[in-house]
Amino acid sequence: MGPDHLAVYLSNSCNLACSYCYVSVNQGPPVSLSLDALKRSVDYFLDKVDGPGKKITFLGGEPMLNWRLFQDIASYARERGGPGLVLQTFTNGTLMSAERQEFLDRHEIHTTISLDGRKSSNDKLRVYFREKDKSVFDDVIAKIKDLPKDNLGVSLVFTHQTIDDFLGNVDYFYKMGFWRITFNPELYDVWPEEKLDIMRAQLKGLTRYYKLILEKGMRPFQIQILFAVMENMRKNKEGLKWWHDCHNVVLGPEGKFYACDKPLSLEIGKAPGQFVGDAASGMDWGKRRGIYDEAIEYIEKKGWGKDEVFCPMGIYEFAKEAKKDPEPMLNNFHKVADVFAEGLMDLVTQLEGHPVFQDIYVNTRVV
Ligand code: SF4
Repeated sequence: MGPDHLAVYLSNSCNLACSYCYVSVNQGPPVSLSLDALKRSVDYFLDKVDGPGKKITFLGGEPMLNWRLFQDIASYARERGGPGLVLQTFTNGTLMSAERQEFLDRHEIHTTISLDGRKSSNDKLRVYFREKDKSVFDDVIAKIKDLPKDNLGVSLVFTHQTIDDFLGNVDYFYKMGFWRITFNPELYDVWPEEKLDIMRAQLKGLTRYYKLILEKGMRPFQIQILFAVMENMRKNKEGLKWWHDCHNVVLGPEGKFYACDKPLSLEIGKAPGQFVGDAASGMDWGKRRGIYDEAIEYIEKKGWGKDEVFCPMGIYEFAKEAKKDPEPMLNNFHKVADVFAEGLMDLVTQLEGHPVFQDIYVNTRVV
């Protein structure tokens, strides 16, 4: 079974400079995909890559900075892929408007706003690239407050600096009316032990909070990351090493396919070991496989790799391209990712029998 997801990094430009950004935005000369290269890559993915129900995600930098290009390629992908193709985008929300939402809805593009919670959390981590004193939170909320949220998602990143407010931030977005709420810890961040304990407690609190919503028959919301957690739990139970193969085809802003997206945090052109083709020459599947096999060998030799819930290969690939020792980075990754995974697996185990949970996560198409 081949990859089913094309992740398109439209450019390396962004109007923000978030502390944890894993894309090398605003470093080196600006690079952006042309419409022609985009169309060829979409065609290649749809026609030449074997995979089940396919999905394309438009990312940045900030994907809405070049709105004309975004509209052109999104309309093209929708026309080429038909209604069965899932399209989605992640935007920082600073450029959202009712007109843009109308376009996104008309083309059935699942849209997620990246926002890290209330002002005190968000503005600690998400700042403007040029105007550091201006509040990103105030601007985004002003842009989205009157937009319908029933088809809009929000994605929070939390770090050891903001974990104390995690549940309050989720509740804030729930009360704003978002249907999809997802979140991730900053995995490169070094988390002090006491902050990992706080993450454990916050995730326990999330389980109680979510349970209450389901049991009281209140309007539920969908936690997107649970789809991956449930799928990987199932595969782990069956003894499958799901992380040995990546389901993403990653298209960098210079038009090259990458084996993994994490080395995109290096300046464009500085991770040549990750290049595995482009739309014109096609994917070098042998090179892609070799890159994964090297990572797997290293990770498993060090004793990791059993029952992973989040893929560890990206950390290895980033370290390799950045010429850093992967061991301490993987150690840190596992410390943080394992606490996060345990909290979410516990939530799934406690709630998966609930009929509303089944409706949201089993009878709904994964986005
Ligand atoms: S908005 Fe996204 S792309 Fe821009 S700096 Fe923040 S995390 Fe990076």
